Amino acid sequence: MRNKTKKLRRRDILLGASVITGATILASCDDKIDGGTPKDPKDSASISKNITQWRMVTCWPRDFPGGGTGSQNLAKRITEASDGRLEIKNFAAGELVPAFEVFDAVREGTAQCGHAAPYYWIAKHKAIPFFCTVPGGMTASEKAAWIIYGGGQELWDEVYAEFGVKSFLAGNTGVQMGGWFQKEINSLEDFQGIKMRMPGLGAEVINRMGGTAVNMPAGEIMPALQSGVIDAAEWVGPWNDLALGFYKVAKYYYGPGFHEGGTTNELVMNKKSYESLNEDLKIIVKVCCHAAAIEVPSEYFAYSGLSLEILKKDHNVDVRSFPKDVIKQMFLISKEVVAETASYGELHARVFDSWNKFLQQSMQYQKYGDYGFMRDRAMAYADI
Ligand code: CA
Repeated sequence: MRNKTKKLRRRDILLGASVITGATILASCDDKIDGGTPKDPKDSASISKNITQWRMVTCWPRDFPGGGTGSQNLAKRITEASDGRLEIKNFAAGELVPAFEVFDAVREGTAQCGHAAPYYWIAKHKAIPFFCTVPGGMTASEKAAWIIYGGGQELWDEVYAEFGVKSFLAGNTGVQMGGWFQKEINSLEDFQGIKMRMPGLGAEVINRMGGTAVNMPAGEIMPALQSGVIDAAEWVGPWNDLALGFYKVAKYYYGPGFHEGGTTNELVMNKKSYESLNEDLKIIVKVCCHAAAIEVPSEYFAYSGLSLEILKKDHNVDVRSFPKDVIKQMFLISKEVVAETASYGELHARVFDSWNKFLQQSMQYQKYGDYGFMRDRAMAYADI
């Protein structure tokens, strides 16, 4: 375990270093394009007068894998890619504002931008989780396809315009696990009376299954599980869950979860701050966000397999899938809960219709797409 953990950390450090190396190479190329001559100091002075400084508040503990590191890398990369013209300072949860006050801090201009999982803002507008994740919904690649090519970004902009903010995709966790439980789940009745940490629309599904859902940020889950304030908790997946140490207090680890097929992280920006940027800086922000939208899920994927192995072999965690009839009920209740969102208003209905049409189309295509291929692969190799 110790060696594996060290290896994981070494890889983290190497990954961080590769980002810096990449930026250095880009800077060198620029110098060559300029003919290799040093920049005129007067130019540098004039550029320095146009430095824009943004504060980025986040929902994550400092250096927390995926969210924390993803947001820190994004702040650093935008600063470097803009040659310091847009300088972004990253604040971990609680350093400037608490995790769940990120949206309001950006809306009110306390910070110019924030890094978060959009479904934390469900109380602001019930359509917001569609841009993050909803139970029984899309995977990371399906959602990116809907947002970038299926009209999702335009609808996201419309919903967020009501709050004076604007977001881009800036990360994804991939498929999340179903959660940590103190007792076995053999039927839907086993959810009766369970108090479970569950965010977004998934919370309503847990409630309809007879449990009680509560939401709380990362730092509060472990003490709540330990003290018995909650009986079960979902957080993310093997990589993040190993880091928080849930295996120390809960015996059963179920997955995959019905509730988060691929959870988006966003860079949420104060709309006025974003619109005041020069066009080139707007492009840099978007491109850096979309780079994070492929890099962060890749990092999650790379470390999740290794972390699952550590949880099973080194910590003797009992990893299971929910029984088939429980899974079916979870998805059917999810479908009801998600469809009800359309009744909350005209914009809610348009978001749901666009999302639902894309999902139905994707489900038909997936028979012959990623899902079809993985199903055939598993059948042929029969080793999982
Ligand atoms: Ca989660």
